Amino acid sequence: MVSTIQVLPKEVVHLITAGEVIDSLAAVVRELVENSLDAGATRIVVSIWPEQWRVRVADNGCGMNLEDLQRAASAHSTSKIHSCADLWKITSLGFRGEALHSLTTLAELEILSRPSPVVSAQFTGGTRIVYGYGGQILHQQAAAIAPGTVVTVSNLFGSCIARRQGLPAIAQQMKAVQATIYQIALCHPQVAWQVWQNDREWFNISPAGTMGKLLPQLIQQVRPGDLQELQIELSHSPQHSLNIVVGLPDRCHRHRPDWLRVAVNGRIVKAPELEQTILGAFHRTLPRDRYPVCCLHLVISPDQINWNRNPAKTEIYLNDLSFWQKQVSQAIEQALRINSDTIQEAVHTTRVGKLIKVAEESGAYNTNCSTSSEDHSTSHTLKAVGQVNNTYIVAEHPGGLWLVEQHIAHERILYEQLCDRWQIVPIEPPIILYQLSSLQVSQLQRLGLDIEPFGEQLWAIRSIPAMLQQRDDCADAILELSRGGDLQTAQVAVACRSAIRNGTPLSLPEMQQILDDWQRTRNPRTCPHGRPIFLSLEESSLARFFRRHWVIGKSHGI
Ligand code: ADP
Ligand code: MG
Repeated sequence: MVSTIQVLPKEVVHLITAGEVIDSLAAVVRELVENSLDAGATRIVVSIWPEQWRVRVADNGCGMNLEDLQRAASAHSTSKIHSCADLWKITSLGFRGEALHSLTTLAELEILSRPSPVVSAQFTGGTRIVYGYGGQILHQQAAAIAPGTVVTVSNLFGSCIARRQGLPAIAQQMKAVQATIYQIALCHPQVAWQVWQNDREWFNISPAGTMGKLLPQLIQQVRPGDLQELQIELSHSPQHSLNIVVGLPDRCHRHRPDWLRVAVNGRIVKAPELEQTILGAFHRTLPRDRYPVCCLHLVISPDQINWNRNPAKTEIYLNDLSFWQKQVSQAIEQALRINSDTIQEAVHTTRVGKLIKVAEESGAYNTNCSTSSEDHSTSHTLKAVGQVNNTYIVAEHPGGLWLVEQHIAHERILYEQLCDRWQIVPIEPPIILYQLSSLQVSQLQRLGLDIEPFGEQLWAIRSIPAMLQQRDDCADAILELSRGGDLQTAQVAVACRSAIRNGTPLSLPEMQQILDDWQRTRNPRTCPHGRPIFLSLEESSLARFFRRHWVIGKSHGI
């Protein structure tokens, strides 16, 4: 087999950002694992002995033939690119040809490799090579191994103890290792991972069809039904696609933005602009100070990306950022909507699960496919059938029944109307308020209200938000607005005050109107304060609860 690893020509080396990337155990794991993925591995076993500063990564990838193995750790040697033009065609994770070489200067490096039969036509056995400083070969011998590669890095930073001392305690370093593997696994869900620490199995990750199916293995307390995943092929350009997993805001959110992730072509990157876009799309759907779960993976044609911004490739230059921002907002909006695709999934809330499980065996409920009607258009899927405690609208749909809290559903509707059309209208006679501070006066002016002195300690309000016009508690509402907050806060306050109160009896047509309007909102799952709006009970769960599968029914002819 022809060797594919070559030393990069000088002009290419000059174009690549230089810099040391091996600064920790986690960085070693990252570099070795990325090599395994580039080799097409589907099984990766990572073993770490932190006290010995030793890391081993074994994979079932394409392996290396003898010639490649001999060159693998030389300076600037890579099989992934060969010319300057290739820098714009990068489809691999690595391309700088530096990781193995640097490792020989920072640690002891040993590689066992055997080419996979698919790659090499003739039979080739395995070889073990121990490399010396700079990548020269110290020992070489035949090795009996399965096709694939086993790389062992020992005594990391042994010749530079100061670098070890600069690193955090082992427990923290191992956290970083785990985080690194999680990040990479998220971008390569098809891979099976086994991770060992000090000869004991530490954790493993099973392969999954998609990022969304993998995610529940990585975040405790998140279940498959808490997530909505979309895979969008951007048709105008066949090489672009977008995969997004969002945590539904009525099901899960985090104290920290720790599961807000952006990946581009198989690698997690820092993309503050896209993170802002994501946070913006979740605006007013989550409780205060909570962050969404959202993982975004963009697949972008490599000629649109410059991976050369920093040597660790965690920052990139992305062409046409605003195009991607728009796609991301639209995708999240789509994922958060309630429609016939999501209606079935919407039913597996943890809390409902608990409710029903009281009388149930444990185990996931299967979505009953027979009810997953091919059918229903978005509106009128929900039919109002009654009201409970003058508070909850009982809604029927082909997949089961929902309880919708009337006040917050209405609040969501009004809030979105206000955001789309904030209108200040003149009123006659004016509303007279007493004893406003100058701060309150300027706050009302900032919101666009007409306000002027009307005598000693009195002010006349001559225009107000249109939605408050019909209300008899209008003066109280204006006082509330005067107490501060930006326009958004004012809109939330007005929506909340104007929404139908709980305790109000509603007719069926009134309830139906709320259901229809609510289903059409952009963020139907939560109110602008982040409270969940509906509770769903799936028909299949109800059927199980009532033991409808029992044969008794049949014997009685029911
Ligand atoms: P880069 O990944 O940037 O090419 P590295 O120093 O990480 O540079 O690796 C050098 C070369 O060694 C790679 O281009 C690849 O051909 C080969 N290689 C490294 N690790 C593996 C592996 N696990 N399986 C197969 N080939 C590998
Ligand atoms: Mg590499």
